[in-house]
Amino acid sequence: MKKHLAFAALMACSVTAMASDGAKWTYAGESGPEQWAKLTPDNFACAGKNQSPVDIKGTVHAGLKPLKLAYKAAGNEVINNGHTVQVNFAPGSTLQLDGTEFELKQYHFHAPSENQVNGQSYPLEVHLVHADKDGNLAVIGVMFKQGAENQALKALWPQLPKEANSKNALTAPLSAASLLPTKHGYFRFSGSLTTPPCSEGVRWLVMKNPVTVSKEQVAAIEGILHHANNRPVQALNGRVIVD
Ligand SMILES: [Zn+2]
Repeated sequence: MKKHLAFAALMACSVTAMASDGAKWTYAGESGPEQWAKLTPDNFACAGKNQSPVDIKGTVHAGLKPLKLAYKAAGNEVINNGHTVQVNFAPGSTLQLDGTEFELKQYHFHAPSENQVNGQSYPLEVHLVHADKDGNLAVIGVMFKQGAENQALKALWPQLPKEANSKNALTAPLSAASLLPTKHGYFRFSGSLTTPPCSEGVRWLVMKNPVTVSKEQVAAIEGILHHANNRPVQALNGRVIVD
């Protein structure tokens, strides 16, 4: 039952956002990030001490193990929930981490990036959201730097729903593998969801190497979202980031 609930919650989060909280929180103004914790008691974690995103700096070398990824072409729909654009996945794409299997549920985009590296922001960041059978989350972040057109985005971008609260079936299933840099070195830290309810206990894995995105591709997603969708970086509060 618990597995079912966690799975349903993730797959349906976009629907929930549309139905109930779509208008309640924003990225600026009266319901912006500084107010999230006060908008509803459900958002108490937004005022927590282990929040995301962060500025990745002062990392400690810990000899992290290579990521064990087995991704399939199982992305089958893309939604625009007014906060982001998100590709939802059918089961079968996995990340092995800490002796546990996490399944890829969805990936979505932030423009500009949410996490930073040594104070540097990027024009775009993708978050690949995975959950284990108990609903614990692991997110892989990949930064996009301006450069050559991104081939993975080239297939997806024309299919992004332009209207908030709408979705499109993908013409062909997509794998998340094509979004990753060639080298899989990564930073790791404990953090949270970067949107309300800002739940903590999220395993964050941010790729060290960025991939490229063209100026036109960034402009295209900015035109669809109509606003920046990055939460400001949060204090580390004693957390150590390892690599
Ligand atoms: Zn995100």
